[in-house]
Amino acid sequence: MINHLYIHVPFCRSKCHYCGFYSETALFGERIHGYPGLVARELALWAKQCAEVRNMRPRSIYTGGGTPSLLGAEGFSALASALRKSMDLSRLTEWSVELNPASASTELLEAMRAAGVNRLTFGVQSFNQEVLRLINRTHTPTQIIDSIQRARKAGFQNICLDLIASLPGLSQELWAQELQQSIELAPTHISVYNLSIEPATRLAAMVANGLRTADENQQMEVLSIAEERLTQQGYNRYEISNYALSGCECQHNLGIWRGNDYLGLGPSAASRIGNRRIENHPDLEAYEQHLSHLSLPPRDTEILAAEDDGAERSLFALRLQEGFNPAECGRRFALAAAKVDQWELGLRKLACCGAVEPGGKAWRLTRRGREICDYVIRELCGD
Ligand code: SF4
Repeated sequence: MINHLYIHVPFCRSKCHYCGFYSETALFGERIHGYPGLVARELALWAKQCAEVRNMRPRSIYTGGGTPSLLGAEGFSALASALRKSMDLSRLTEWSVELNPASASTELLEAMRAAGVNRLTFGVQSFNQEVLRLINRTHTPTQIIDSIQRARKAGFQNICLDLIASLPGLSQELWAQELQQSIELAPTHISVYNLSIEPATRLAAMVANGLRTADENQQMEVLSIAEERLTQQGYNRYEISNYALSGCECQHNLGIWRGNDYLGLGPSAASRIGNRRIENHPDLEAYEQHLSHLSLPPRDTEILAAEDDGAERSLFALRLQEGFNPAECGRRFALAAAKVDQWELGLRKLACCGAVEPGGKAWRLTRRGREICDYVIRELCGD
């Protein structure tokens, strides 16, 4: 059963220098106006050919991008009403929308509230004007605070902030201030993503031209500062990059990390349905053309062998504080007993080097393990 729906909104005013996600810039007017109708059409075409989508009653929707707030109040309401006409939303408990503080108008916030959105995630990244300018964010520190105040006035209580750690120009002192400013805004959830230099981005070119970025030790330091400050304030690090007050964990992402199916709509969106891994091409023009001719947009589909599918879904759990239980995964997914034994053995070896530790029925990453999570997963995959 598919419990989670992701909708990608592929428009941005300009490209942030670090961003490797798919979005088109300066494509406003008609193109954005027509986008909710295309998403609804993609959903209808999916439903025609796939029983799992036809019977889908999502528990969570996550609208990300890109910049969903560029849809504006009218566009967002159109998207919401198209979804309500196309699927049963009676089981929906969480609808998250990513918001850019520069385009979070009162009108839009009210439209989202009326549509049933109950979780907002603000792309803050930094509170430092110079750093925001360096990475080409379009908002200012004042807009962050104003937009959060407006969201509260519009009735939103579940307010989340995204921060980027290790940005160039942020000393440890400034980073500690960023965390403090975040805490003072009293969000329910804070994501702390370590800066990643994505290939073919402006930031990658800046680094190649001599821009200094934090080395590995400095990165680990700032992540540790985040863990210390945020946990002191009652935020639980329930996933490597995510902290939440009790009961405010992102149900959408938790569902995916727990290995559940999800449907993704929009260019570049990914889906996981049964043993199929599907990814729409990151191409808005092709998306528009195909849907205007009533065919699903171009996409890559990979059919996974049952064991590979189960292994992939199982290992996500290592990212979570609740941990990874090989035997339970063996019962839940089609995994050979030999695979489960191999994982148990691998985990015991990783425990010897301090990367994982047993806790109750599950294995968890240690602090060191969180720093080298990709390595741990590779070791268990046997890659
Ligand atoms: S607003 Fe978000 S999606 Fe758009 S360029 Fe910036 S980081 Fe990327």
